[in-house]
Amino acid sequence: MSIDNDLDLTTGTTDPLAAGHALRGLLGDRVVLPGDEQYDAARVAWNLAVDQRPAAVAVPRSAAEVATIVRMAAETGLRVAPQSTGHNAGPLAAQGLDDVVIVRMSEMTMAIADPTRGIVRVEGGTLWEPAVDAAAAHGKAVLHGSSPDVGIAGYSLGGGIGWYARKLGLATNSLTAVEIVVADGTLVRADASHNAELFWALRGGGGNFGVVTALEFRMYDIPTAYAGMMLWGPEHIEKVLREWAAWAPGAPDEITTAFRVLRMPPLPEIPEFLAGRTVAVIDGAVLGSDEDGAEILAGLRALRPELDTFGRVPAKSLVRLHMDPEGGMPGVSDSAMLEGLPDGAIDTFLQHAGPGVETPLAIAELRQLGGALGRAHEGGGVLSSLDAQFGAFQAGMAMTPEMGAAVHGAATALTGALAPYSTGAAYLNFAENPIDARRGYRPEAWRQLAGVRSAVDPHGLFVANHRVPRLFEDGQPTT
Ligand SMILES: Cc1cc2nc3c(=O)[nH]c(=O)nc-3n(C[C@H](O)[C@H](O)[C@H](O)COP(=O)(O)OP(=O)(O)OC[C@H]3O[C@@H](n4cnc5c(N)ncnc54)[C@H](O)[C@@H]3O)c2cc1C
Repeated sequence: MSIDNDLDLTTGTTDPLAAGHALRGLLGDRVVLPGDEQYDAARVAWNLAVDQRPAAVAVPRSAAEVATIVRMAAETGLRVAPQSTGHNAGPLAAQGLDDVVIVRMSEMTMAIADPTRGIVRVEGGTLWEPAVDAAAAHGKAVLHGSSPDVGIAGYSLGGGIGWYARKLGLATNSLTAVEIVVADGTLVRADASHNAELFWALRGGGGNFGVVTALEFRMYDIPTAYAGMMLWGPEHIEKVLREWAAWAPGAPDEITTAFRVLRMPPLPEIPEFLAGRTVAVIDGAVLGSDEDGAEILAGLRALRPELDTFGRVPAKSLVRLHMDPEGGMPGVSDSAMLEGLPDGAIDTFLQHAGPGVETPLAIAELRQLGGALGRAHEGGGVLSSLDAQFGAFQAGMAMTPEMGAAVHGAATALTGALAPYSTGAAYLNFAENPIDARRGYRPEAWRQLAGVRSAVDPHGLFVANHRVPRLFEDGQPTT
């Protein structure tokens, strides 16, 4: 048995525009087609640098409408790409969307906390902030990431590294149920006791199996955290990075941080302490008392940051701690998973992104991994841990294609230079360029994942940003 890497849609393609009109016949103005006045607005992704041109954009308001779209697409030969926000639209658009209906989940955004069951239930297009607020109303927290407007579905199906990650693991491990419309148009619930194989695949396997219409995930008893950021000017960047890199692997699981070199343009919308400057920022959160926080951070504080906001804060404020851009922006990036940060890796990082270097990279980021992130989660899904000590993510603004090309060059050059220190694996949520998705999984898990894809989506109806292929009985060796 081998793994098929090419599309083999056997539903019989018709003219995509005719198929789009058939869909519109069922759902009216919730289906937007090329040539419509609203087409450009409807197809826009959160990442404005991505030019996605699907055969249709459908915006369902219920699981029943999702099922209608999936059935009609299968009948008429369109493929189906679920999308919540388009934060990771790059690798999707790169596959070519001429025969694809994007199912934009932006009208399915309900979030309800259920303190009796200890979970939050959200619809398939919900962003993180409403779920954070719903949990906070009960003194609880959920495993969101650094951005309030990332979609819960894409983030959680791909892993999910947030501010509690070294203590509580990947967000995907906290999923307790996923409701999904699969290729035959039925709505299926996957949890530990129903459709357990599918539940395993969904927890890390991304949007390859259907359109997720609802998710349920654990909330944690975290009303507040000791969290904040420290900032240093350019002359301290090297010293701070070396200290942080030496400290991070041995730090207790209670703390999760990120180190960044930020190069911000002198714009009025950027906070004064950042605008027009190159700085080092370490931000993060400690789950513990103020005394624990002060003790854990003592070494970094000794480096005398010019700004230090660490202190007791409501847990819900962490969703904006990282100052991520909201509402869409044009960005280009690259990423790598690192075994560690020995002196050579730090030298390399500074040569590409350190102070005094001319680079279009606005952000050169290193996430502190390890702790619970490095331990397989009992009963977890296809991706329940990350086998790396640090995650590198470097990005810049792409207001024009030329700027995009320059950022891409700089971002991939840093990845290439860090190759000797890389694990070779990838964290697919941070992979915003086309990538061989098998790098996101252990080899045996990859094969099993492809098996689930074959069973659930035998004709390759669904198109994900990071593609899991199907298995075929053709005798070829597996890859
Ligand atoms: C500013 C920014 C901050 C980020 N911060 C973090 C972070 O702190 N931690 C982290 O781990 N990652 C982070 N990410 C990465 C983020 O997790 C990925 O970009 C993720 O794919 C975004 O999910 P989305 O649903 O918003 O994006 P989309 O581009 O809409 O979705 C990505 C893919 O997820 C699948 N998908 C989405 N919705 C559905 C659905 N309803 N049903 C089935 N499949 C679906 C599809 O395959 C889709 O192609 C960040 C990204 C950005 C741009």
